[in-house]
Amino acid sequence: MKKFTKFYVNQLKNENIELTDDMLEKLEKYKDLLLEWNEKINLTAITDEEEIFVKHFVDCLYCAKYITNEDKSIIDVGTGAGFPGLVLAIYFPDKEFTLLDALNKRLIFLEDVINKLGLKNVKLIHGRAEEIVRIEDLYEKYDVVVSRAVAQLPILLEYISPYIKVNGKCIVMKGDNVDEEIKLSSNALKVLNLKLLRKNLYSYNVKNEEYKRSILEIEKINETQRKYPRNYGKIKKKPL
Ligand code: SAM
Repeated sequence: MKKFTKFYVNQLKNENIELTDDMLEKLEKYKDLLLEWNEKINLTAITDEEEIFVKHFVDCLYCAKYITNEDKSIIDVGTGAGFPGLVLAIYFPDKEFTLLDALNKRLIFLEDVINKLGLKNVKLIHGRAEEIVRIEDLYEKYDVVVSRAVAQLPILLEYISPYIKVNGKCIVMKGDNVDEEIKLSSNALKVLNLKLLRKNLYSYNVKNEEYKRSILEIEKINETQRKYPRNYGKIKKKPL
C-alpha cells in the first residue's frame, strides 16, 4: 500500500469508515481506468494519484456515515465519472446503486469500470434527471439520493427530490460556503416537502492544503407533487 493511501485509510478509520484490502484493490483499479480514459474523454481535472485518492475517493467515502443499514437503494444524480455513487457502491457491496447522468460517454466509461471491477450492485441510467424520472416512472423509488457538484441547491432539489421515497433522504455534497445556497432554498424545501436535517462540516488536507466541505442531510417528509420536476427551461429560468 502506498504511504499516502495508508495515511488516509487511517484517517477514514477514525471516522468509522473501514476499507478492506478488496475495496482498496478496486479503488486502485478504478483510479487506473479513470486516468486511462481521461486521456480520451474529459472525466476529471485531477490527474495526480494522491489527489484522486483524496478529492474523489476519500471525499465520497465521507458520505458513507450518513447511509444506514435500512437504506438499500441509492441513486446518484449527475454521477459524472462515478462520484460519489461508484465509490459508495464499492464500499457497500450489499446495497443497490443506480448511477444517472445526462452524458452518455461518461456512462460508457462507468460501464467499463463496473465490468472490470466485477461489481454486481450497480445499474446505469442515461438521461436528464428532470426528464427520466417521468419517462421511467422513478418517482419515490429510492431510499437515498446522493449528489455532488451538479447544480445550485434550489435547482438540484427539484431534480433529485422526486426520486426519494417519503421518509427517505438526500445526501448533498457541497463546499463549506453553503449557507447562502441554503437560504435561497427555503421555498424549494417547502414546496418539495423536504426538511433540512443537518449540515455536516468536514475537511481534509492534501499536499499542504486544507479543503473544507459540507454534507447536507435532507429528509423527504411527504410525496412530491407530480407537477415537479418542471422542464429544464422553467427550472433554469425560475428556480423554486
Ligand atoms: N458528481 C460528479 C463529481 O462530483 O465529480 C460529477 C460532477 S460534474 C461537475 C456534473 C455532472 O452532472 C455532469 O456529468 C453532468 O452531465 C451531470 N448533470 C448535470 N445536470 C444534469 C441533469 N439535469 N441530469 C443528469 N445529469 C446532469
